[in-house]
Amino acid sequence: MERLQNIKLFLLDMDGTLYLGNRLFEYTPSFLSAIRKQGNRYLFITNNSSKSVSAYVEKLASLGIAACEEDFLTSSQATAYYLHQHHNGARLFVCGTESFKRELQRAGFTVTETVDEADCVVMGFDTELTFAKLEQVCRALCTRDLPYIATNPDVVCPTEFGSVPDCGSVCEMVYNATGKRPIVIGKPSPLMIQLAMHKCGVKPEETAVIGDRIYTDIKSGLNAGALSILVMSGETTEEILAASPDKPDLILPHVGYLFGKEFRQ
Ligand SMILES: [Mg+2]
Repeated sequence: MERLQNIKLFLLDMDGTLYLGNRLFEYTPSFLSAIRKQGNRYLFITNNSSKSVSAYVEKLASLGIAACEEDFLTSSQATAYYLHQHHNGARLFVCGTESFKRELQRAGFTVTETVDEADCVVMGFDTELTFAKLEQVCRALCTRDLPYIATNPDVVCPTEFGSVPDCGSVCEMVYNATGKRPIVIGKPSPLMIQLAMHKCGVKPEETAVIGDRIYTDIKSGLNAGALSILVMSGETTEEILAASPDKPDLILPHVGYLFGKEFRQ
């Protein structure tokens, strides 16, 4: 595949692409080292805004993959980037975890205790959600019509026992109460991919997005004009692939096939 020859930056989804839950795929270490041996770069990208980057560094280390904070791009970081571009200096009411709030503070924003002092409402994947926070969000949207931004559209987050509601589900609860929907930052929006390209100084034609979900990973790649590569090692089945209106540029059984000859187009 000719487009693959031009790729300098590989943006990698993690769960379902490099590992499944707590099980590292056997071909992942050699895949990662092949990218570096070629003189190219990879970044791990995630829609999950409930965990800090340092928690991801630890997670990969526990699986045997050495990584540093600069190797990651999260929807929290992309949200801070978006807020700087569109609402610079805004005071934020954040419905999110304490670690997400600290990340926004480190990015230079003031995080308020109540919506009364806020200029913007930010919704994350809040694993510390309370009804009081939801009530504040609804009050801000009903009475003040503040700008409303969400880190990611995922409806559920996989766990070892099944799934729990993610940011997208909580946004639906708020929509049912207020009729307002947020601007959503994470995949499938191209914003995270554009931020990665900007950080690494590469163009869309030099960038590949690799992931196991069509409606987030693949769509974000297509939306950003990057090469989109679907791996069948996670969520997508042949039935889902056949029914999807979004077609990946390349389909592989798993990332171990990327630098081999056996792939489907
Ligand atoms: Mg995945």
